[in-house]
Amino acid sequence: MAFEGLAERLQGSMKKIKGKGKVSEQDVKEMMREVRLALLEADVNFKVVKQFVKDVRERAVEQEVMESLTPGQQVIKVVNEELTQLLGGEQSKLNTAQKPPTVVMMVGLQGAGKTTTTGKLALHLRKKHNRKPLMAAADIYRPAAIKQLETLGKQLNMPVFSMGDQVSPVEIAQKAVEQAKEEHHDYVLIDTAGRLHVDENLMGELSDIKEATKPDEILLVVDSMTGQDAVNVAESFDEQLGITGVIMTKLDADTRGGAAISVKAVTGKPIKFAGMGEKSDALEPFHPERMASRILGMGDVLSLIEKAQTNVDEDKARELERKMRTNELTFDDFLDQLAQVKDMGPIDELLQMMPGANKMKGMKNLQVDDKQIAHIEAIVKSMTKEERDNPSVLNASRKRRIAQGSGRNIQEVNRLIKQFEEMKKMMKQMTGMQKGKKKGGFKM
Ligand code: GDP
Repeated sequence: MAFEGLAERLQGSMKKIKGKGKVSEQDVKEMMREVRLALLEADVNFKVVKQFVKDVRERAVEQEVMESLTPGQQVIKVVNEELTQLLGGEQSKLNTAQKPPTVVMMVGLQGAGKTTTTGKLALHLRKKHNRKPLMAAADIYRPAAIKQLETLGKQLNMPVFSMGDQVSPVEIAQKAVEQAKEEHHDYVLIDTAGRLHVDENLMGELSDIKEATKPDEILLVVDSMTGQDAVNVAESFDEQLGITGVIMTKLDADTRGGAAISVKAVTGKPIKFAGMGEKSDALEPFHPERMASRILGMGDVLSLIEKAQTNVDEDKARELERKMRTNELTFDDFLDQLAQVKDMGPIDELLQMMPGANKMKGMKNLQVDDKQIAHIEAIVKSMTKEERDNPSVLNASRKRRIAQGSGRNIQEVNRLIKQFEEMKKMMKQMTGMQKGKKKGGFKM
């Protein structure tokens, strides 16, 4: 899989932070050191790595991650967002001409996959966008390049424009555009010549084709397996010719992914497509966000978010447990619990899940109908802070006032206070039972 090695390393370096309920600055520092190494090992441009690490660290601190409720989640969210940005942010789609045909120049070094990709792109345009492309064979130097495109055309049942190898590439390109207009093709994909290295002659010829056909897109095809060489090639082509986008080939075989990650940051030009195999349909529009998620294993992060949330509940539960043990439980805690219970679903089921609950005497009295919750809330909210903190002050006149304030009758108020006392007693017993079995972890 693409980015396999990098994905593994990055996910490994974030593992420690994921499980943490609290994240210190030191934790972030350590994680980022590992992220930095992972990126360098994946052959990401070192300047890009440096900037990335700086950005993530700054944002992590800015967002006050240290005090957030779900710190692990937030740190990884920042990494994910910054990685998405690095890969280009929004998906960059193919430019189209106001008036067809859209002229696309395919450029790149020999062996990068230019001819194969020209066929793939033509097929993509026809299959996914219902377009009618024309491919043009303008590589007159490489033996059999023209033949290769013609064969590809036959396989895909896609028209190919060629004039042999005795005509200048500029003329071939111009004539191809003319023919596309006449035959109402909406795209012309010009397969240009490549060289083993970037050289002046090649750039001169490509510039001439550019001048003559005024392309809407100049797509540079680079082999992602060549790592930073691919990025250097992209830089040269952009400086000397001006490109509008990049197609990364052989991403299926590239476990490191350094070129794909650096190219946008270094050249400022987006990756528009990725080649994911040798077959003609193995071309995918490049989605930075999806790619980042894939590298970071966001499926994991989603479950992390859940876990982070449970961690918060665990903190509360621990505090609650302490209060229950020391008999400090207040009506505010009771309301708090009620609110949580409401979010969780039917109370009967919840009681079933509580360890030891079915063995408890008096449990039946505690079974609260969902509809009653609103009444209970009204009663508790009519109490003063003092009454909620210390229910023993509740005398007859206070109870009458509460009944009036909440619109419930006095019997209901009495019943609630009784149930609350019973619950306190029962919970004290239960925490005792729990303590014998395991530490912490009592949740309601
Ligand atoms: P050109 O010289 O740039 O025109 O390169 P070709 O189109 O002839 O491709 C060179 C080699 O790369 C061929 O063997 C292709 O099958 C292979 N290739 C191209 N794209 C991909 C890709 O996305 N994945 C893999 N695995 N191989 C590819």
